Amino acid sequence: MDIAINTGNSRYQVDKNGYYGRFGGAYIPEMLYPNVAELQSRYLEVLSDPGFQQEFEDLLRDYVGRPSPLYFAKRLSEKYKAKIYLKREDLNHTGAHKVNNTIGQILLAKRLGKHRIIAETGAGQHGVATATVCALMGMECVVYMGSIDIERQAPNVARMKMLGATVVPATSGSKTLKDATNEAIRDWINNPVDTHYILGTAAGPHPYPDMVARFQSVISEEIKKQLLEKTGSEDPNYVVACIGGGSNAAGAYFHYLDRENVKLVAVEAGGKGVHSGFSAATTQLGTIGIIHASKTLLMQTNDGQIVEPHSISAGLDYPGIGPMHAHLYESGRAQFLSATDEEALAAAYELSLLEGIIPAMESAHALAKLKDLTLQPEDVVVVCLSGRGDKDLDTYIRHMNK
Ligand SMILES: *Cc1c(COP(=O)(O)O)cnc(C)c1O
Repeated sequence: MDIAINTGNSRYQVDKNGYYGRFGGAYIPEMLYPNVAELQSRYLEVLSDPGFQQEFEDLLRDYVGRPSPLYFAKRLSEKYKAKIYLKREDLNHTGAHKVNNTIGQILLAKRLGKHRIIAETGAGQHGVATATVCALMGMECVVYMGSIDIERQAPNVARMKMLGATVVPATSGSKTLKDATNEAIRDWINNPVDTHYILGTAAGPHPYPDMVARFQSVISEEIKKQLLEKTGSEDPNYVVACIGGGSNAAGAYFHYLDRENVKLVAVEAGGKGVHSGFSAATTQLGTIGIIHASKTLLMQTNDGQIVEPHSISAGLDYPGIGPMHAHLYESGRAQFLSATDEEALAAAYELSLLEGIIPAMESAHALAKLKDLTLQPEDVVVVCLSGRGDKDLDTYIRHMNK
């Protein structure tokens, strides 16, 4: 496991003050200081412990089912005239990459002596992954979820309850992910001693973006080995991933960040069109500001009010991106594209028919941009298939009948 490697010399990894370029940091209210300071001072020491790494590795293998396959998608490759591989995070236990991070964080929480876990969730994938690992470890679990999302993601709410979690509705603001995150932070302020907050993406105050990226870095660690076996080289020409807060992308890019010959492509949710007023394309529409205790790019009005995002996929429906990605955008290291709701739907149907794989609505955004890359027949492209489409069947069926 490379989760504790020294990344200090990289231009694209977090610096010792918790920044990626001018993005990141920990802009926290004073009441949150003890929790965040404890994490900042302890996380790298815990992650470097061989006992911790062994336990993490064992659970990823025997409980999650890793390594996830790197699948050569033959018919998709024929269609796009390049060599396309899918990193199958959809085959993980609970159906997405989120569980890599929740396993890491719950093991950390145990070592910090915490016995109560809180989390935020949008579509419910992170909430389900958190409820799952809490059941596994016998810990109390409270998940905050916008009351609108509770209505539109009923199956995942039922799963969380069956797994023993308490689901608390967030009823302020737009009643979605951003508001659930606010409620989780409020809970943490009130319970600083016994509670760990398992944040679900590469966002929030330092050290969360770095810690989440390290737990997800198993994705690119595996890609390197698997590509070497299949192609004779660890390096693809492209790594493509969708971006909500940026955790599956951070994991897929992690070990390639300093290999500038590998092109990194990030796909944001264009919603009904970047300039339609219904979009979540943060790098196209955002400006620098502070959201959930991190200085990053976010969609805001001139006087700093958050603009409500829109995406057909609840997992990408977030008005900011994590600070690592804001820096990858500003430095030009990664290319940022956006896919509309319609493009993502078409890509989801296409993958289903060409490969027999129904992708998550989020992952379909990454697939949707294959048509916009200028690919050569020899190019090796790895697409991070972040999750499976079971949770999105209602959406798919509704649009199929149109
Ligand atoms: C949550 C989710 C995402 C978006 O989150 P990131 O942190 O940007 O990866 C993407 N795909 C799936 C399947 C998800 O559940």
